[in-house]
Amino acid sequence: MNAVPLNKNQHALTKDRVVTILGATGSIGQSTVDLVRRSSGKFRVEALTAHSNVGELAKLARELNVKFAAVADEKCYADLKDALAGSGIEAGAGESALVEAALRPANWVMAAMSGAAGLKPAMAAAGRGVVVALANKECLVCAGEVFMRHAAANGATVLPVDSEHNALFQAMGAGRREDLVRVILTASGGPFRSATLAQIENATVEQALKHPNWSMGRKITIDSATMFNKALEIIEAYHLFELRADQIDVLVHPQSIIHGLVEFSDRSVVAQMGAPDMRTPIAHCLAWPERIDGPANRLDLAQIGQLTFEAPDPVRFPALRLVQEALVAGGAVPTILNAANEVAVAAFLDRKIGFGGIPLLVEATMSAMARQGNNKAPASADEALNIDYNARNVAATLAPQLALKAS
Ligand code: NAD
Ligand code: MG
Repeated sequence: MNAVPLNKNQHALTKDRVVTILGATGSIGQSTVDLVRRSSGKFRVEALTAHSNVGELAKLARELNVKFAAVADEKCYADLKDALAGSGIEAGAGESALVEAALRPANWVMAAMSGAAGLKPAMAAAGRGVVVALANKECLVCAGEVFMRHAAANGATVLPVDSEHNALFQAMGAGRREDLVRVILTASGGPFRSATLAQIENATVEQALKHPNWSMGRKITIDSATMFNKALEIIEAYHLFELRADQIDVLVHPQSIIHGLVEFSDRSVVAQMGAPDMRTPIAHCLAWPERIDGPANRLDLAQIGQLTFEAPDPVRFPALRLVQEALVAGGAVPTILNAANEVAVAAFLDRKIGFGGIPLLVEATMSAMARQGNNKAPASADEALNIDYNARNVAATLAPQLALKAS
């Protein structure tokens, strides 16, 4: 059975929802905290994690009266301990402390760390058979089969937080899984939707960080500008809902009101809509299968007036071509694509490569690794992280050549 519960009765709602938030200081983490805050004591918070923002983590930990707070960066341990002194909250640091946070007795875990670094803690949470609200798409791209198999084998419930996948999950409720023929992920098109290829290739960090509709962390904002975000989301949908690649379409929809559509065999297409505010899909996951009051603006279609749609352009946005190649090749290639993209985005944000260098670096890494001939799909999280590590090294070695080309 798939870990995504397409049958509402598959898992009963736990009466007392005890929450852990992995990546609590980030954009999704803070939105989750906001919902917990508004719920006036309905949810108890067990553990929180962050990369290195000790001040914010300690503030949230005290406010929510959690039992355990952990930072990824071991150098921050003493500061975190100091910041929590006298509160009775336990402090932890390092990769093992992130896993420990995921293992603490919560029955609902938000996996909202960014990047493949989120894989091990998300696996640990899934291994406990609890509800995992999954925002971290990189973990599915890096090790989708491994993660979903592990979740199903341990009786975990995986709820998709990513707005498009949450929309598909909600829309799928309108029919039977076996009658589903296609899903459509919408994409805003990002800040360069109507830019020329030359403008896109030469875009600055400041231009790329200006998303027209969504306010998000830096990595995913750059991914939205390159459309690697949609590329990762195609792989995410592939694993979450056990779809074939040819069942997943992308539709550019600049207003970001329709988040996802599902087509059934009778040609009925069911869509989910809402204002672009991540607190809506997070609220859906937090209360699932019930509903709680959401704080997003109510949808006023008369005021919006028009919803428009365009076909995606794989020429200006090579990410859309590369993801198809990765899915056709299968094996380790999606893991390689994800790792190379993480390196490329970091190099772009550090101004070491140009915006046009991001897809070039991903493609060059995919080709270099294909020439090395190690293309076996990862059979465990460690194998996935090993491929991820090798791909990062290859990408880091290739990056300076692209920097030279760009100058
Ligand atoms: P963010 O950068 O705002 O926050 C990331 C969080 O993870 C922070 O708490 C940070 O401290 C922590 N973190 C980062 N690197 C870490 C590491 N190496 N080890 C441990 N902790 C680390 O990111 P975000 O925008 O909140 O996105 C989080 C995840 O959710 C990403 O996978 C993203 O693709 C996905 N997502 C985000 C949105 C959104 O609207 N922001 C929408 C859909 C999916
Ligand atoms: Mg999304």
